[in-house]
Amino acid sequence: MKIVKSVKEMQEFSESLRNSGNRISFVPTMGYFHRGHLSLMEEGKKLGDCLVISIYVNPTQFGPGEDLEKYPRNFKKDRKLSEDVGVDAIFYPPDSEMYPEQYQTFVDVEGVTNNLCGLSRPGHFRGVTTICAKLFNIVKPHVTIFGKKDFQQLVTIKRMTADLNMDLEVVGMPTVREADGLAMSSRNIYLKEEERESALSLSRSLKLAKKLYDKKERNAGKIIDEAKKFIEGHPYTNIDYIKICDTTTMEDIEHLEREAVIALAVRVGVVRLIDNYVFGESLSL
Ligand code: AMP
Repeated sequence: MKIVKSVKEMQEFSESLRNSGNRISFVPTMGYFHRGHLSLMEEGKKLGDCLVISIYVNPTQFGPGEDLEKYPRNFKKDRKLSEDVGVDAIFYPPDSEMYPEQYQTFVDVEGVTNNLCGLSRPGHFRGVTTICAKLFNIVKPHVTIFGKKDFQQLVTIKRMTADLNMDLEVVGMPTVREADGLAMSSRNIYLKEEERESALSLSRSLKLAKKLYDKKERNAGKIIDEAKKFIEGHPYTNIDYIKICDTTTMEDIEHLEREAVIALAVRVGVVRLIDNYVFGESLSL
């Protein structure tokens, strides 16, 4: 497995792979791997001849006062896990490679980023789309794999690649959960023991929302109220948002007719967790 730290070397490696007729699959990450990340890599193995991943904690997607410095990192462990999955190359650049002095170009997707995390984390998606556009130009993948856990991110990346005519396929993969239902996240390690039970209120509220939907409830406000009440019944929780949105536009909807997602962001202690459920899909809880 190759470890590549320079942009030029990565571009040359990818170009040689392409020239020899290989299909490149690519999984961008911020590292500190859990089974969610590994599921994307396993899919990447199936979808291409060569699997490249990136590990880069991207400063431009963190707002002031967010956890950039404290974001968990463990390259040694990530490297071992990647090797076990059969990753062909890890792109692992330093900040100076990605944002050299004089850097001044950003990619901004409009509509779909105007709600949810786009409201509570101003500038976040601008950082995400900028780094992904750069990584796509560096790794030159034919297919890239993202998790549905970050649902709005997946929609935004699909919008960007379509709008900018990027010649690659974007694949979304289901959320991988702990046995108790908690969506896996690198940030879960920061949950205190006593907060863990409260963290389960996110996935359980999605289960409640699914149950209401399956009983033919179509009023978004009613489903949101129930989910809200449920989460608020747990200590240490502080709801950032609970919304039901159209899965294409990410705009709020009042009545569930077209495909819709219930998305939530909740602070449990100091840890901000997100989760979501697309109505009509299965929910393995
Ligand atoms: P991150 O390292 O948190 O930026 O995530 C890298 C990729 O892994 C993104 O496409 C995420 O959506 C995906 N991901 C994170 N958590 C999960 C999970 N629990 N299940 C599936 N994919 C995930």
